[in-house]
Amino acid sequence: MAEKIDGKAFAQDLRDRVGKAVAQLTKDYDLVPGLAVVLVGEDPASQVYVRNKGKQTLEAGMHSFEHKLPVTTSETELLELIATLNADPDVHGILVQLPLPKQIDSHAVINAIDPNKDVDGFHLINVGRLSTGAAGLVPCTPLGCLMLLKDALGDLSGKNAVVVGRSNIVGKPMAALLLAESCTVTVAHSRTQNLEAVCREADILVAAVGRPEMVSGEWIKPGAVVIDVGINRVDGEAGKTRLVGDVDYSSAEKVAGAITPVPGGVGPMTIACLLRNTVQAACASRDINFDLD
Ligand code: NDP
Repeated sequence: MAEKIDGKAFAQDLRDRVGKAVAQLTKDYDLVPGLAVVLVGEDPASQVYVRNKGKQTLEAGMHSFEHKLPVTTSETELLELIATLNADPDVHGILVQLPLPKQIDSHAVINAIDPNKDVDGFHLINVGRLSTGAAGLVPCTPLGCLMLLKDALGDLSGKNAVVVGRSNIVGKPMAALLLAESCTVTVAHSRTQNLEAVCREADILVAAVGRPEMVSGEWIKPGAVVIDVGINRVDGEAGKTRLVGDVDYSSAEKVAGAITPVPGGVGPMTIACLLRNTVQAACASRDINFDLD
C-alpha cells in the first residue's frame, strides 16, 4: 500500500514556518509582509478562495488587503487599482483571483502587476525567470507539489517525471521545476498518444488534468510517487457532491509508493506557498537575505 502524503500537515508546518519568519521580520526589520487580493465579481468558488487567503494571511501575522470589485468593472479600472497597489510600499504581494469577467483581458492585468509583487508567479518576467533558472516568484501550486516531492523522495535528480497537463498555471511551471531538479521530464496533454504507457514510465507522476479519476492504478509504475493536482466535484451519495482528484485513488494506492489524497494533498499547499511567496517578495523589497526553506 502506498504511503499517503499528508499535504494538510505539511501545509500547516509551512504556515507555522512562515508565521515565525513574519514575527522575526517584524521584530528585526519592522517589516510586516502585506498581501493584496483582488476579486472581481461574485463567483462563489472564488469568494471562498479569497476568504481563505485573507484568513490565513492574517493568521500568519501579515497584513491582508482585500479589494472586491463589481462584475461590471472595466479593464481600465482594474489596471488603475493594480497601479495603485504596485506603488503601495505596504503591499508586497498582489494576487488577482482568476477567472476574470469576459470584458477584462487577464493577460494584460497579470502583466501589469509589478513582477516583484507577482506572488502567483504568472507574470511573463517570472515565467522567464523560472525557465532560465533565475531567482523569482514561482507559481504556488507547482511549488507546493515540488515541496511534497522533495519531502517524499529527497534528491529528485535523474528521476523520470511525467506531468499530465500543460496549463500555464500548473503543468508547464511544474515541468520547469522538475527539469531544474534534473529530472527527465515528459509533458503529456490531450494529444499525447499512448498516455497510459507514457505514465507507466514515470518515477514521479503529476496529474493536472481536470478529469475525475482519469489515471488508474494500471497506469502507474509500481513504487512511483503520484501527485494529484486535480480538484473535481462529482455526484456522491444521497444527492450530495464530493471532491475527487484526477487519479483514481483506490486503485492507485495499491501500486504507487506514495500518493497525495484529494482532498488533503496538494490543495492546502497552494495557499501556504502563497504566504511563503509573499514573505519572499517582502524580503526582496528590502534586500533582506532570509532563508525560508
Ligand atoms: P487546464 O484545463 O488549464 O489544463 C488541463 C490540461 O490537461 C491541459 O493541458 C489539457 O491538454 C490536459 N488534458 C485534458 N484532457 C486530457 C486527457 N484526456 N488526457 C491528457 N491530458 C488532458 O487545467 P489546470 O491546469 O488549471 O488544472 C488542472 C486540474 O488541477 C483541475 O482539476 C484544477 O481544478 C486543479 N487545480 C488545483 C489546484 C490546487 O490548488 N490544488 C490549483 C490549480 C488547479 P491540452 O493542453 O491539450 O488541452
